[in-house]
Amino acid sequence: MRVGIIGGGFAGLAAAIAFRRTGHDVTVFERNAGPSTAGGAIVLARNALTCLAMLGIDRREDAAAWSRIPAVIRRPDGRVLVHSTLSGLTGGGDVVTAPRARVIEWLTGQVPPDCLHYSAPVRAVDPDGTVRVGDHLERRFDLVVAADGVHSVARRLLWPSALAPRSTGTAGWAWIVDPGLREGYGTVWGATADFGILPLVDGRTYVYGGAPRGAELAQFRRWADPLPALIDAARPESTATPEIYEARPPRQLRRGAVVLIGDAAHGMRPTFGQGAALAMEDAITLAYRGVAGLAARRSRILAMYYASKAGSWFATPGSAPLTAVRDAALRVTPDPLFGAMAGAVSRWRPPTIPP
Ligand SMILES: Cc1cc2nc3c(=O)[nH]c(=O)nc-3n(C[C@H](O)[C@H](O)[C@H](O)COP(=O)(O)OP(=O)(O)OC[C@H]3O[C@@H](n4cnc5c(N)ncnc54)[C@H](O)[C@@H]3O)c2cc1C
Repeated sequence: MRVGIIGGGFAGLAAAIAFRRTGHDVTVFERNAGPSTAGGAIVLARNALTCLAMLGIDRREDAAAWSRIPAVIRRPDGRVLVHSTLSGLTGGGDVVTAPRARVIEWLTGQVPPDCLHYSAPVRAVDPDGTVRVGDHLERRFDLVVAADGVHSVARRLLWPSALAPRSTGTAGWAWIVDPGLREGYGTVWGATADFGILPLVDGRTYVYGGAPRGAELAQFRRWADPLPALIDAARPESTATPEIYEARPPRQLRRGAVVLIGDAAHGMRPTFGQGAALAMEDAITLAYRGVAGLAARRSRILAMYYASKAGSWFATPGSAPLTAVRDAALRVTPDPLFGAMAGAVSRWRPPTIPP
């Protein structure tokens, strides 16, 4: 089968690898001039690590040591609400955090260069599998995998009745600081803003924050250590400033020869750090179980979409009284129980791969 893939992000590259492994002829169209060099990092929980291993990239050994690093959930004044480890905060199992660009590099390394077309923006796609690229190229495929992110052109053109991606009103910052920390990893939850501080596989420190659009990073210098020093170390030129969008999954993920996967199908708040993991799950399921297998994931995807909303309201409830309720709830919840609830999202049974 000739498979055309729109987008060379986590979903598109994972689909390229998985479809090649199942014997198909694969072409990827990516609008950027080369592999993404987006800043920031990505948490790879156990389902993401399983996906990577199935795609020929086994980082589980790195993860074993990282998972045991102590991590806490704190209030902005430094008071600890949950004591745990990186593994505990993500529900058990291995977890590792790696620079985004590095993970894209791992995936790109598994795809022969002649399958990857850069500077190839897809302008239109038809249900019969015809893809129009740039101003002149037109190609027809047996299957088109639209993996072009939350602002997907395929979703806009072929799913006109699906809800358009919606800004959550949250904007953020993501940056990497050279030295690792001796302690202080985990998350900081305020009333309307939150931050995460995580050790990277390469020994550096990844920091991300989310706050209502318009907030300035500098205003969080008054939060407890180690945040002020990490904010001082952020360099504007290498700090990513994502705006958070969400897009409810449409009822059907297939229109004729075109299927949606990854953020194109289900953009969600990054509450659980699961978007890239789900994107790779989609790609692997589609390649090994076909469109019916992808459709069978709908309940997982919808549950994750709503859990991500609920989780973000819980982490940043918006007002002082609700924040007090959140803190009280965390104080009475045993730490392992909190971890088990938060980590249920990364439990995934992969499709069996025929020998
Ligand atoms: C602040 C933040 C933190 C996050 N943290 C995590 C985390 O820790 N762990 C995790 O698993 N997830 C995390 N996520 C979510 C994760 O980034 C996304 O879910 C993931 O990037 C989705 O992958 P994708 O391949 O579907 O889409 P994208 O990563 O958006 O990739 C889409 C690709 O398609 C290309 N493209 C778009 N349009 C076209 C076109 N017309 N023609 C050709 N190419 C096109 C783009 O250039 C891009 O390369 C986070 C998200 C945010 C915003």
